[in-house]
Amino acid sequence: MHIAKTVGIIGGGPGGLTLARILETRGIAATVFELDEHPFARPQGGSLDLHGDSGLRALREAGLEAGFKAVARYDDQGDAIYDAQGTLHFQHNEASDGDRPEIDRTQLRSLLLDSLPAEWLRWGSKVSAVESLSDGRYRVMGPAGTLGEFDLVVGADGAWSRIRPLVSSATPAFTGVLFIELQIDDVDTRHPEVAKLLPRGKISVVGNNQGLIAQRSSHGHVRAYFMFRVSEAQLQQGLVDTSSPTRAREQLKALLPGWAPSLLTFIDACNDSIVARPIVALPVGHRWMHRPGVTLLGDAAHVMPPFSGEGVNMAMLDGLELGLALAADADWSRAVKGYEEAMFERAASAAAGAMQGLDFVSEHALEHVLEHFRELQQAGA
Ligand SMILES: Cc1cc2nc3c(=O)[nH]c(=O)nc-3n(C[C@H](O)[C@H](O)[C@H](O)COP(=O)(O)OP(=O)(O)OC[C@H]3O[C@@H](n4cnc5c(N)ncnc54)[C@H](O)[C@@H]3O)c2cc1C
Repeated sequence: MHIAKTVGIIGGGPGGLTLARILETRGIAATVFELDEHPFARPQGGSLDLHGDSGLRALREAGLEAGFKAVARYDDQGDAIYDAQGTLHFQHNEASDGDRPEIDRTQLRSLLLDSLPAEWLRWGSKVSAVESLSDGRYRVMGPAGTLGEFDLVVGADGAWSRIRPLVSSATPAFTGVLFIELQIDDVDTRHPEVAKLLPRGKISVVGNNQGLIAQRSSHGHVRAYFMFRVSEAQLQQGLVDTSSPTRAREQLKALLPGWAPSLLTFIDACNDSIVARPIVALPVGHRWMHRPGVTLLGDAAHVMPPFSGEGVNMAMLDGLELGLALAADADWSRAVKGYEEAMFERAASAAAGAMQGLDFVSEHALEHVLEHFRELQQAGA
């Protein structure tokens, strides 16, 4: 009797869900283990721009392009660059002509989730270990025992992957850049002074070893990241006290002497959800020896700084390429090996670019950033 092979996907982020959807459309059964209790257990983050040859291609091949277009924001692709004194240096307002449409992270997750059989999703399933079995399969374990056995286990569980140690001893390292994430609600009605600075899309502010990127999501929601170069010791100490929003706002302002008051309105306007996000990365060129029955995708394989906006796009492209490889070749070890070799190459190149993006938070960053944006604009022209 022929028994169909199955895939266990650890992590229901953009990468894992893209893989699940590609498998589903190609008739291969999978189970997704996700530690969140339900789809809306925690905010999924802000707006993402999807790129034509990666994130958008994955959605197209997953048969989800129409669903994407129904919620995507083509008119939120605008950009502006200020210095910390509030001088505008660059603006691109012809926003809707870009080829990197925006979508809220929650909408993207819903689009993928709604395309999958509900029984494929195991919510509230934190994977704690994976054991190899004598027949070459793998057993996925949670704190309370066995969650399932699979022919292939895919670690799509993000930067701090529990699956990665099966193939690699690498761990992400702190890059020296810390983001403090702020959120602003109902910007157009409640905070017109912020809305004026951020009419569409996103703005970047380049300071001396400091920066800000603020971006609109749908429904007048804004996410703003103040960025700082910090030492490991400062990181451990905590740059701002996120447990006290009032104190955190004061501390943030004190860390930004000389910044234009107009730019500090992002701090006055933010709600009480203030989160410190240390930016971590795996070594550029991270790779491993192929191990039959286990692989990684997305941040688990190549977490990188978020400056070039490649993380989600790379994760979705990995999900697509792995799914297509499994559907095309009955020898899954060979299929996975082929996927890995190509993924290592493209991830190394994307990670090198993303590491350069850390220059956004450096001394004399402005000229560098402006040059980069001019190049991008010329390339798109
Ligand atoms: C501040 C910040 C801003 C960013 N902005 C952008 C951006 O604008 N554009 C962009 O492309 N990228 C951005 N990124 C990067 C992007 O978030 C990631 O690259 C992307 O989410 C990776 O997708 P993934 O599916 O590999 O992993 P994740 O999105 O991390 O998903 C992993 C999933 O696995 C689950 N999980 C974890 N551990 C377990 C476990 N043990 N058992 C079961 N489930 C588990 C998690 O709950 C999660 O749902 C940003 C990152 C940061 C930190």
